[in-house]
This record gives sequence, C-alpha cells and structure tokens, in this order.
Amino acid sequence: MPAYRTLDAIEANGKIALVRVDLNVPLQNGTVSDYTRIDRVAPTIKELTEKGATVVLLSHFGRPKGQIVEEMSLQPIAQAVSSHLGIDVGFASNCVGDVAKNAIANTENGQVLLLENVRFHAEEEKNDAEFAKSLAALGDFYVNDAFSCSHRAHASTEAIARELPAYAGRNMQAELSALSAALEVPTRPVMAIVGGAKISSKLDLLFNLVEKVDCLVIGGGMANTFLNAQGVNVGASLCEHDLAKTAAGILEKAKTVGCEVILPADAVLAKEFKADAANRIADISDVAPDEMILDAGPQTVNQLKEKLAGCKTLIWNGPLGAFEISPFGDGTFSLAKKAEDLTKSGSLITVAGGGDTVSALTMAGVTESFTYISTAGGAFLEWMEGKELPGVKALNS
Ligand code: AMP
Repeated sequence: MPAYRTLDAIEANGKIALVRVDLNVPLQNGTVSDYTRIDRVAPTIKELTEKGATVVLLSHFGRPKGQIVEEMSLQPIAQAVSSHLGIDVGFASNCVGDVAKNAIANTENGQVLLLENVRFHAEEEKNDAEFAKSLAALGDFYVNDAFSCSHRAHASTEAIARELPAYAGRNMQAELSALSAALEVPTRPVMAIVGGAKISSKLDLLFNLVEKVDCLVIGGGMANTFLNAQGVNVGASLCEHDLAKTAAGILEKAKTVGCEVILPADAVLAKEFKADAANRIADISDVAPDEMILDAGPQTVNQLKEKLAGCKTLIWNGPLGAFEISPFGDGTFSLAKKAEDLTKSGSLITVAGGGDTVSALTMAGVTESFTYISTAGGAFLEWMEGKELPGVKALNS
C-alpha cells in the first residue's frame, strides 16, 4: 500500500481541487511542440471533473525568477490544453488574491481553470509558508500530479501540502509505482544503464545504483572517465581526468557489493564531432591521440544485448554515445530496439527517464513499447540518486 493518499476514495463533488501539474511544455514559435506532459495529467483532470470537482490547475512555466515575464505567461498553454484535450479551460491572470478567487467563483463544478505562472511570485521558489497559505485558501483539497517538479521544495509542491488534505494524482501515482517497481522492489536481475556526457553530474546516482542493481552499464562520454581511471588511453575523447580517483572508487564499491560493471570493450571513433564524420570501429585499447570515442562499438552492443536478455528489469538514463550526430546514435538505438523486443515479449520491465534519454529513445522509436518513460528530468535523477523528493514526502505526512 502506498503511504500517500490517491484519488480512489476522494469525495470531490462540489469541492474545489487545487491540482499542481507540470505544464512547463516546450514551445516553438508560440505552439506546443510536445504534448506528453499535457497527456500525462489528462486522467487526473478528467477524473476530478467527472467526480464533480472544480479543477484549478497550478503550474510554473520557464524561469521568470519571481517577476512577471509576459513570454512566460501560461495563458497560451491554457488554450493548448483546451484544444488538445477537447475541454474548456479558463484562465486567471494571477495565481493568488482576488483575481484568482473571482475566477474560481466563476468556474462551475466539473470545469477547469488554469491559474497564472506560480513563479511570477518570488515566494514560490522560497517555499514561503504565507504564499502557500494564499494558494491553499483557494481550494478544498490539494492534488500533486507533477512528479517532475517534486524534487523542488516550492510553495506549490511542498508547503501547500501541509495546508490542505493532500493527494497524489494519477500521473504522480503512475510515476511512483513505475519507479519503485524498477529500483525499490524490482524483479531481478536488474540492469541499469547510465550514459551521457559526464560523471560529475551523476556521481550520487552511480554510488546509489551500484548498491541497488545487479549489473551497471556505463556508457557515453562518462565511460571514458572510467576507462581512463583503469589506465586506458582515451585520446581526444570527452574525459574528466580529475575524476579518475572518484571513478575508481565507484568501481571499488561495486566490487565490494557484488555489482557487475560493464564498460565498453570497443567503440566507434572519429576525429571530428560532426555528422557523418569519417569513423572507424576499434578495440578500446586502440584509440589514437587525436581520436574521440563517440559511440559503443558493435562487440559491446552485442554483449549488452545478451546480458539484457538475462535480466528482468532495466532502468536507463543517458545515451551510449553522441546519439544526436549520425552515426553515433547507432549503439543506443540498437540496444533500445533489443530492450523494446524483450519488453514486448513480456520478459523485461523497462523504465527510462531524463530529457536526453527520452529524446534518444524517441529517435529509436521505442517509447511506446517501454514499460514506463518518465517525463521528469531532475526529479528522475534525484530519485535514482536515492533521495527523498520533498514534494513526494509532503504527500506522505
Ligand atoms: P546527459 O545529459 O548527461 O545524459 O548527456 C547526454 C549527452 O551526452 C548527449 O548530448 C550526448 O551527445 C552526449 N554524449 C554521449 N556520449 C558521448 C561521447 N562519447 N562523447 C561526447 N558526448 C557524448
């Protein structure tokens, strides 16, 4: 049983629901270019409106730093939610005070209202108790459906949950159960793939994962730092030479706790970091001083596929190579396809998250088949680091 309350037993009819959502969606020329975050909060909005609540949405958008910044108004997003979900979504030009109160008073049960960017008030990011009280005064109960914002103790994610009966929305619930199924109570063996550019941004995550998973695959630029720590010459590759000792410490810890670590055995090398640069496949011990490791080689990818076939759970953050530049995404895409096949056949649970990872898996065309793709970036990483997220913790109290 989860420690948080869900919408299952909620008495919502005739009540005002304050629902924290993440509508910080990408805009291109004023148009939403990716509706995933809107789709993810749709079930909660639908359920609460069907139960007869007035649904008042709270969100941030961009980083206005406590100022009113016109380009960061949520007004166009209200229109986008409205047309995408086929529902009427009203808009109030302030998230607190009389403007918000009047707009809510004019919104009927079963209808939806979006309040202006909570970050137009500096108190939001300060987790200010008085500001949280002003938000809470607008509604009867609070629903957090923004896992992706819950690593921040902000007024609309943390302090507000102490002011009203607080519930996890359906998106939050789905994130928490998928993530806990992957790392807290996983079906073993569990493989984690951690790739991407640098280990400096993922140190806590690596230290936490070696204790939790059976097999840790280190890929991408960060693998170079580990290879370098083992005395491999990585040529002109991205490498954090100053972190050699830390990398060695992670490998040592893995050995102590019995976590198998897999580093690339071969790689795709190039002298230029550009699309279709001349490249060659070579053993990892054969990198020339002017060459860069830009992708995992075929031998490594095959080894990973075989290993993955024997696993029951995969958790993935970070690409195996510079996937945005052809052909250096091939290793990531090929392994992603294998993960997709295993998921489809029912033998593997696949959970992935993080902005670049989702882009890479989207390019591989596998996101529909993965068991769960987290839309959270920072929150997903902090959760993988084993940290308690303040917005989630607040729902437990
Ligand atoms: P991250 O945000 O830490 O997950 O890093 C993702 C970025 O790492 C992507 O933009 C990739 O292009 C980059 N990356 C992955 N492997 C390499 C590599 N071997 N060399 C340089 N950049 C890489």
